[in-house]
Amino acid sequence: MLTRADLEPVWHRSRELGFYGIHLPGEYGGQNLTCTQLAALKEEIGASGRVLGDMGGPLRAGDILQHASEHQLDKYLLLLIRGERTCCFSLTATDAGSDVRSMRTVAVRAGDGYRLTGHKVFSSAGPFADFAIVVARMAGTGEQDSD
Ligand SMILES: Cc1cc2nc3c(=O)[nH]c(=O)nc-3n(C[C@H](O)[C@H](O)[C@H](O)COP(=O)(O)OP(=O)(O)OC[C@H]3O[C@@H](n4cnc5c(N)ncnc54)[C@H](O)[C@@H]3O)c2cc1C
Repeated sequence: MLTRADLEPVWHRSRELGFYGIHLPGEYGGQNLTCTQLAALKEEIGASGRVLGDMGGPLRAGDILQHASEHQLDKYLLLLIRGERTCCFSLTATDAGSDVRSMRTVAVRAGDGYRLTGHKVFSSAGPFADFAIVVARMAGTGEQDSD
């Protein structure tokens, strides 16, 4: 199994070469690639037998950049983009995969943050991530509340 120690040099070299975060907006060091351009790039790199250094890296930070607060940018996302921190993406739950609407992971406002209740599985890079982007349903919304 790949470890963070295996991957960190790959992220840093990928960043030096300008690939790490290449899909991001220019203001974050990216090339403003469209989905089509990114798909073409990945196809070419895949065909060459190489990989982009994205495991746990800034591909987890895409559209979220457009909605992040200054605090979220400073504390999490900019560090992620620079390859100084890594995160995982936690959508899949024990009882919900493709059908996200059936998800039972619930977020409740708790002070300045949220309290999460649920059980996630298959979070790639989870064992060594510094933080997670967790997909949850706000309490009081969605079809599961009628249970
Ligand atoms: C290597 C690997 C890495 C992963 N990494 C992550 C990760 O980092 N974070 C994360 O959150 N998850 C991750 N996953 C989980 C993955 O995203 C889920 O497996 C995926 O969401 C599918 O969910 P499921 O396995 O519950 O399958 P299901 O949702 O139960 O689907 C099973 C099958 O039914 C089909 N199907 C489902 N709904 C419908 C429908 N309405 N109509 C027709 N067909 C349908 C699907 O296409 C599939 O063939 C990873 C999985 C793998 C294998």
